[in-house]
Amino acid sequence: MQTELFNAKTQKENGTGYAGRVIRAGGLVVFPTETVYGLGANGLDGEAVLKIFEAKGRPADNPLILHIAKKSDVKPLWRHVPEIAKRLMDEFWPGPLTLIYLKSDIVPEEVTAGLDTVAVRMPEHRTALALIRAAGVPIAAPSANLSGKPSPTRLEHVLEDMDGRADVIIDGGPCSVGVESTVLSLVGAPTILRPGGVTREMLEAVIGPVRVANAVLNPLGEHETAASPGMKYRHYAPDCEVIVAEGSPRAAAAIINREYSRAEREGKNCVIFATEQTKGYYKGKKYVIIGDRDMPGTLCASLFAALRDDSGGVDCIFAEAVPAEKQGLAYMNRLLRASGFTVLRS
Ligand code: AMP
Ligand code: MG
Repeated sequence: MQTELFNAKTQKENGTGYAGRVIRAGGLVVFPTETVYGLGANGLDGEAVLKIFEAKGRPADNPLILHIAKKSDVKPLWRHVPEIAKRLMDEFWPGPLTLIYLKSDIVPEEVTAGLDTVAVRMPEHRTALALIRAAGVPIAAPSANLSGKPSPTRLEHVLEDMDGRADVIIDGGPCSVGVESTVLSLVGAPTILRPGGVTREMLEAVIGPVRVANAVLNPLGEHETAASPGMKYRHYAPDCEVIVAEGSPRAAAAIINREYSRAEREGKNCVIFATEQTKGYYKGKKYVIIGDRDMPGTLCASLFAALRDDSGGVDCIFAEAVPAEKQGLAYMNRLLRASGFTVLRS
């Protein structure tokens, strides 16, 4: 397949009108959002949605999120709109919050992987909204990576995975949030199935106590079923080992320095994901600064790009654990999964 590339920033005809027609005709479009790049298809067309699974190599039992351009567009997709959802939509839409509730009959089973619930989000990104409006239908879209790889947040990473697999790619520059949306189930007690840019603390300020699914920070037990099917798969894995060090910043850095030296003696090429606060501990070693520990959103913004950038020629990534609070919960969720839960403690 020949993929057409548009640039949403520099081109006057930024491609959303054309790409909207491609979606309506049953094609696949990669588009930027504030979280990560998405691979979209007509969310009301089961056959079009199946092409997403094929292009990504995504397991068929992992449901997709429907993206809408205005709040009222959720109405036909859910059986009804619960009061709690209205409060959340007013506060956090448009934005990186996905809400799960009981699906209506118009949502194809290909979107929900046979579940009786459907996930819906209204993104904030101008290009995403323009595309959904142009398409005139909800757009089903997972992240635009091959299944198992880190989600793309930069055009070059989209091209690595999706050139030749999608009909259109729209370049919108780097994604600002950098990790996928927060997924909140509203069936039963409100539960975060996947943490993201809208934090537990932000949600609790609006609706009171919010649970966090066990699978967010822990590997699934052998006989456990995931509330969110996506949680059972290895995710965000670069082509190298990822090792997480726990403890205070100083203790984590000590573990990393020891293990880095050991790995180097074994002939391995290593890189450290340092932070503004800890970079001084790693003098003479190869490191990149991921962000600021006091502003965990900065860690989220660069994680996926760093996992991809450093996988070429790198055998081993060492990263510090940070407190699982605010956006630190999303950062630790992605980092632990990228590492396959390989954690060192002193
Ligand atoms: P992605 O499309 O890659 O952003 O992944 C979407 C995430 O939302 C996956 O972890 C899915 O398993 C989860 N998800 C989507 N729809 C549902 C649903 N109806 N119930 C539970 N989890 C869902
Ligand atoms: Mg994904």
